[in-house]
Amino acid sequence: MADRVVVITGAASGIGRATALKFAREGDKVVVADLNGSGQDIAKQITKDGGKATFIKTDVSKQEDVQNLVDKAVELYGSIDVMFNNAGIGDMGSILEPNIDSYHKTIGVNQHGVAYGIFAAGRKMKELNVNGVIINTASVFGYMANKGTFAYQASKGAVRMMTQTAALELAPFAIRVVGVAPGGVDTPIIQGYKDKGMLEHLKKQQMREQLIQPEAIANAVYLLSLKEADVINGSIVMLDDGYASFK
Ligand code: NAD
Repeated sequence: MADRVVVITGAASGIGRATALKFAREGDKVVVADLNGSGQDIAKQITKDGGKATFIKTDVSKQEDVQNLVDKAVELYGSIDVMFNNAGIGDMGSILEPNIDSYHKTIGVNQHGVAYGIFAAGRKMKELNVNGVIINTASVFGYMANKGTFAYQASKGAVRMMTQTAALELAPFAIRVVGVAPGGVDTPIIQGYKDKGMLEHLKKQQMREQLIQPEAIANAVYLLSLKEADVINGSIVMLDDGYASFK
């Protein structure tokens, strides 16, 4: 399966970064997309290690940025086989005293960012007649209520349904759309939990009572991208060490 063109958003850090490194190690060409310019370092690291990667600065909450990302990826590498709509931000906000700016920002990145990625990659894959795969990062929080993260829950619930609907609409073109729902992963996004002294609580949500390493998520995303995973379509795959299945 090597030598595919893989576009990954939020690839400067955490899950996206680990996934960029994984695909590159497997021989795919990786387009590292992030708002944070340090994504450039990931692309440089991949190139230094003998892989192929390019950084494209992208704000996924802007439709024109995401369209540009997909267009540039195809210009550079001739195709787009995998689109990993992964960029996301955390949000801690109360319902009774909502921070409206933070609400809109969270929906803008986590929900609209994924939608723009589906639109751009779906159209391009159809145009190029590529039997591609679009993978979207949801969360266990797309399945369960949690206090104090209203916008985040809403955005991740939306990712679930956008994944299912996109899979249905793109199926006639043999384009698969799959979601992943990580549990607690050891990345900078959980800093808010650490600051609130909730790290031990978060660890206990996994059956093995440890945070998940981003590389474990990357490995699962890679598996889902393969032809061998062809039957997995329109599903959200829990990557959560049991988080969502016990109390
Ligand atoms: P992270 O903070 O390490 O990485 C997120 C990346 O997204 C960063 O590089 C950041 O710069 C980028 N980003 C933020 N806003 C952006 C924008 N507007 N445009 C482009 N890039 C932007 O966190 P992570 O844990 O790797 O998060 C990746 C995804 O996984 C997110 O969608 C997150 O919601 C989801 N997730 C994480 C966990 C967890 O416990 N870490 C659990 C479930 C789901």
